[in-house]
Amino acid sequence: MAISLNARVSILKGVGPTLEEKLKNLNVARVGDLLLHLPMRYQDRSHIVPLRNVTFEQECLVEGQITACDINFGKRRSLLVTIDDGSAVLTLRYFYFSKQQQDGFAIGRYVRAYGVARFGPKRLEMVHPEYSTSATPLPAPVAALTPVYSTTDGLGQTRLRKLTQQALALDFADDGNPEATTSWPLEQLAYLHQPPADASAADIERVQQAIAFDELTAYYLVMQHRQSQRQQQQSLPLPQAQQLGRELLSQLGFKLTNAQRRATTEVLNDLARSQPMLRLIQGDVGSGKTVVAAFAAIRAAEHGAQTALMAPTEILAEQHYLNLSAWLTPLGIDVVLLTGSQKAKERRAGEAAVADGTALVAIGTHALFQRTVTFHNLALTIVDEQHRFGVHQRMSLRNKGQVPHQLVLTATPIPRTLTMALYADMDVSLIDELPAGRQPITTILVNNNRRHDILERAQAIMNTGQQVYWVCTLIEPADELPASAAEPTLEELQQALPGYRIGLIHGRMSGNEKASTMQAFKAGEIQLLVATTVIEVGVDAPNATLIVIEDPNRLGLAQLHQLRGRVGRGDQASHCVLLYKSPLGKLGQTRLQVIRDSQDGFFIAEQDLKLRGPGEILGTRQTGEQQFRIADIARDAVLIPKVIEHGKQLLANDPAQAQRLLATWAPADTGTVGV
Ligand code: ADP
Ligand code: MG
Repeated sequence: MAISLNARVSILKGVGPTLEEKLKNLNVARVGDLLLHLPMRYQDRSHIVPLRNVTFEQECLVEGQITACDINFGKRRSLLVTIDDGSAVLTLRYFYFSKQQQDGFAIGRYVRAYGVARFGPKRLEMVHPEYSTSATPLPAPVAALTPVYSTTDGLGQTRLRKLTQQALALDFADDGNPEATTSWPLEQLAYLHQPPADASAADIERVQQAIAFDELTAYYLVMQHRQSQRQQQQSLPLPQAQQLGRELLSQLGFKLTNAQRRATTEVLNDLARSQPMLRLIQGDVGSGKTVVAAFAAIRAAEHGAQTALMAPTEILAEQHYLNLSAWLTPLGIDVVLLTGSQKAKERRAGEAAVADGTALVAIGTHALFQRTVTFHNLALTIVDEQHRFGVHQRMSLRNKGQVPHQLVLTATPIPRTLTMALYADMDVSLIDELPAGRQPITTILVNNNRRHDILERAQAIMNTGQQVYWVCTLIEPADELPASAAEPTLEELQQALPGYRIGLIHGRMSGNEKASTMQAFKAGEIQLLVATTVIEVGVDAPNATLIVIEDPNRLGLAQLHQLRGRVGRGDQASHCVLLYKSPLGKLGQTRLQVIRDSQDGFFIAEQDLKLRGPGEILGTRQTGEQQFRIADIARDAVLIPKVIEHGKQLLANDPAQAQRLLATWAPADTGTVGV
């Protein structure tokens, strides 16, 4: 019987509601999704390794006849099965076993096992290998590589393999719509689920890339589709009105950089239109994106319309609030802050002001806005995304009015090829210039055995009235990690530097505690702040001129660059000390050298992409979000120009195929493609 690839997985034999739920965790809802859930890697179970040839740590398939089966009552009870293939003997060891299993290992029976060989007390053994037994010689092994899938709790490899095999055996060719399957790379998918035993890594990668090309094309089409949908929507046009922006400009106390001026003009031009703006402002840490956002909010306010500014953390929301209220309140624009740690009464008052439209600018965290706030007439949303990529795509606020304009601020220095693919639905303004007078940050790598020197350095800095960040990657010590933790480091520094005002900030503190600690640091009441990476995003204390980062090799390059950007924000020379513990390893050393030698966020991102892959850069690794099923942006970035060309071609010449690609890869986005 023919079956649709879009049918729910529950049509497969053995898939009930529980399993269906589990499969959803793997992003598998349709039968076709099961085919798109490709193996992470493969095992070679296509040939049997003679026992004589098995070596330490080899992962392999072996076979033999059982010559002994005993329970060993040593330190830990275990079942020992000895097998012999005529060339040598090997032990299979099971710590967990049933009576039934034990009986299955009768002397003389044939066993085939797959596992890793390790040294046992007498000879090589495999601990808990997968196995099958038989009274007669076993049939030849399958002539294909065995897939290993990423999976979820309670769903084993064997079950997943069998399901995939079941799906692959279905007849999709004729489900009433002969065109429906043409966009599914069925042959290639079948190949990847079961590559021939002699397939090389390069063979496999070639097929993966061919499929990735389809996926990226579909992604491009989705972006184009969204863009054309957006062009049909209406937003409140916000043309030039009063001259409040000029007033701010004259009161700022600094001159905008050319890049800031350009970005502001681009934003204000977009806002004047009735078509919703969707613009990304990309600018390195400290490039001054906030003030551009302020001009946009002022423009909305001139029309009596509201702006929502969303920050990724409470500290940052608080800081935006301080900046924006200082800039906008004198212009007669009411700004409110909404955070989860506010007193309920205070927050309700803020929410009421947002709901009745008296507050024209509301600042808060992403989470909070999505949960509780309704706007009176929201005309503009600003998302400060820092390096959490892709937040804007899921952002929808409750608003009584029209579709708001959207501005996204990001410090993520995404290489250009990636921007083209990932932000294909957005316009981009680049702030590629730092404010004048910024002192460069000198970065040095220092071995932890010279910790004492660094303590003296911190002391000297504090003696000049300047301030210090001291960053640890952990809050408390963890046995398994040889990394410094913030709490003991605080004690150490308090003892080593008596009489200095030393504070602590970390992610487990309440929002209020964090905010007041940050305030105290900004006000100079704290001279040295021991911190975790909570300070990495956007925190601004211009008098801090030294940042010490412990165990820098535990952090991504983009993250290190962000952290380093906490200093060098004023007009004094600043320093960053990367305090590492040896051994660093070759890759670790190379990575830290990249940071030491460059302050160019884009260059660092490109190096990071080369050295570590895109998860780090796009923040997807930290957040566990996955952008693509099959495409790997680091590997497949080279395809992107061709993807864009192909996507355009499809839209122009073969919209039906474009439609089918979308149906395969992005069923939720399937509608009318912009043709
Ligand atoms: P980011 O782009 O990292 O968000 P901010 O907007 O926080 O940067 O700006 C960093 C600091 O630089 C702030 O203290 C801000 O007031 C200041 N600043 C912004 N633009 C300029 C400028 N043109 N000249 C001098 N200082 C500026
Ligand atoms: Mg910022």
